[in-house]
Amino acid sequence: MNDKKIKILIVDDDVALRELYVEIFKNANYEVLEAGDGVDGLDIASKNMPNVIFTGIVMPRMDGFAMMEALKKTVMTANIPVVISSHMGREEDQQRANALGAKDFIIRDITRPIEVVERIGSIFAQSGGEYKLEFNPEKLDAKKIAKELNFQENFLCLDCNEQLVLNMKLTNAQERIFETRFVCPKCGWVAK
Ligand SMILES: [Zn+2]
Repeated sequence: MNDKKIKILIVDDDVALRELYVEIFKNANYEVLEAGDGVDGLDIASKNMPNVIFTGIVMPRMDGFAMMEALKKTVMTANIPVVISSHMGREEDQQRANALGAKDFIIRDITRPIEVVERIGSIFAQSGGEYKLEFNPEKLDAKKIAKELNFQENFLCLDCNEQLVLNMKLTNAQERIFETRFVCPKCGWVAK
């Protein structure tokens, strides 16, 4: 498969702030999606499978924490790393973010935007720049991809029948370019 940029979903109801981060992440060579609240964030996340979500907390309709809870309910979005963007950095928000498995908790009043990019980028630099993504074979263009790659449509390993995962490996840290391929988490089979 082709190299891909990291896809980030930025969720915030503060338009000016959101646009600022959209611009910064685009400049850092990310593919950027945006949403104005948790409802839209959830919808865009399930349709577009971002590699990471950067979300505010207080938003109309659905807040950032409720969105995280909802993301965990489906296999496809359950493992998307979420980074919280906090305005005031309240202790109780930090605790709730930890309990929900947030990858990072960024207090934006004391964090320069370039540091935000660095901290979010570091999620992908861990474990040798490799990043595994579970996905739902029923959704989106998975069936088309399966056909192109001569897979079984349900994306099971041809050797041991385990569900394949999408493996993303950082091939160019500076440009944040990933090589993506399907691998078997059980026997290590790799799609050519
Ligand atoms: Zn296998």
